[in-house]
Amino acid sequence: MRRAAVIGSGPAGFYAAAALLASDDPAFAVDLYDRLPTPWGLVRAGVAPDHPKIKAVTRVFERIAKHERFRFFGHVTIGEQISRDELLAHYDAVVWAYGADADRRLGIEGEDLPGSIAATALVGWYNGHPDWRDLELDLSGERVVVIGNGNVAIDVARMLSVDPDELATTDIADHALAALRSSKIREVVVCGRRGPAQAAFTSVELGELGELAGVDVVVSAEEGTADAASIAAIAGDGHPIERRNLSILESYVERGTSGADRRIVLRFLVSPTRILGTDRVEAIELVRTRLEPGEGGVVRAVATDERETIPCGMVVRSVGYLGRGVPGVPFDERRGVIPNEGGRVLDATAEYCTGWIKRGPSGIIGTNKKDANETVETLLADVRAGVVGEAGHDPSAIEALVRMRQPDVVELEGWDAIDAIERALGEPHGRPRSKLATFAELVRASRP
Ligand code: NAP
Repeated sequence: MRRAAVIGSGPAGFYAAAALLASDDPAFAVDLYDRLPTPWGLVRAGVAPDHPKIKAVTRVFERIAKHERFRFFGHVTIGEQISRDELLAHYDAVVWAYGADADRRLGIEGEDLPGSIAATALVGWYNGHPDWRDLELDLSGERVVVIGNGNVAIDVARMLSVDPDELATTDIADHALAALRSSKIREVVVCGRRGPAQAAFTSVELGELGELAGVDVVVSAEEGTADAASIAAIAGDGHPIERRNLSILESYVERGTSGADRRIVLRFLVSPTRILGTDRVEAIELVRTRLEPGEGGVVRAVATDERETIPCGMVVRSVGYLGRGVPGVPFDERRGVIPNEGGRVLDATAEYCTGWIKRGPSGIIGTNKKDANETVETLLADVRAGVVGEAGHDPSAIEALVRMRQPDVVELEGWDAIDAIERALGEPHGRPRSKLATFAELVRASRP
């Protein structure tokens, strides 16, 4: 039996584990590691609490975890408690699937003022990620500006605008629900540096904003209507999402405002230049942009000299996630990915990668299945080519090492105990679960 370690228990890691376990000849035993005491990665800590259907994929992961050749080692940081070399000494193959949990920066003045936060932190905070349990958020200002035009920006705008009563039956972190109940936010302004035809939103997410009770979606005809060149570029096959987005935006322009208590304002062709404030965020300066054809047919935003300043109490930078390196593993700092070919790590032997750390932070959960299958096919081809051998490792040796280095390791039974406690805590309130949101609580709950 060959033994593989998969690092990261989000969709990429689980799909890679499933593909490895599905192979009979060669057969693999899989140990899945996570830095957190809990599995499921961004399905638990990223998907917005009011999107329970997307989270239903955890049932697939639960089935995979029941496989007799599967083990889970949670609360173990590879690169700290267990090194890459130790993994390579105990496994026939290693699959890196730990995603991209850092945030891309804007590189502008004022970015580090209190009140300027990364969407990665805010998303972790409302989802009960233990790293962000104590994030200090001041929700006392009436306006928040979100930079970026992706689905995370939409999630953030929606979570800050929706009636907290609608979140009360979700798995939102208790601390976030309490804070949102006393939030004074009345307006969330979402800013894209390019035009409406270049936004990275998907249509379901964009359309959902228009269905929020008590929230007006405000789009001006000037900014919400695409220019002729952009319309021509997305005509014909190949751009259904962009075209659907434009028609949704048109409906928002036509609908106008109803005088609702809260507003989400969608702005386009504006790019942040400075975040202003003395001790904390007080305003953001934006420059108007125009579109120009760039390299490889990509439309670029070019700054004009027209500037505006929007007063706000908080700026959320939602311009994408960024992967980090693990000591000893080849890494492309600029792109934040492990350099690879079809999932085979370059300049390495018997090391593979999948998910966001392989291709960058893009795509939806299902994208990771195809991606993991490609990586595992590459790995299996290397088995056939004799690159990945069968060293006959003793599974109890790495288990003992893990337990020695991390006495608070959370294995499957521990996770099952956490899961049962969280579900029981949520049940009386009609919630799928009430998340434990600190490392200490999670470890305590994992104990028999
Ligand atoms: P994203 O889709 O890549 O969007 C990033 C946005 O940031 C883009 O609009 C980009 O604009 C903008 N941006 C980047 N640098 C900027 C800068 N310096 N100044 C201003 N704007 C800048 O990333 P994401 O929203 O973080 O989402 C990550 C992935 O998760 C995506 O594939 C997304 O679809 C997925 N996701 C899906 C769901 C869902 O299905 N419900 C929910 C959340 C996330 P440019 O295009 O001009 O570069």
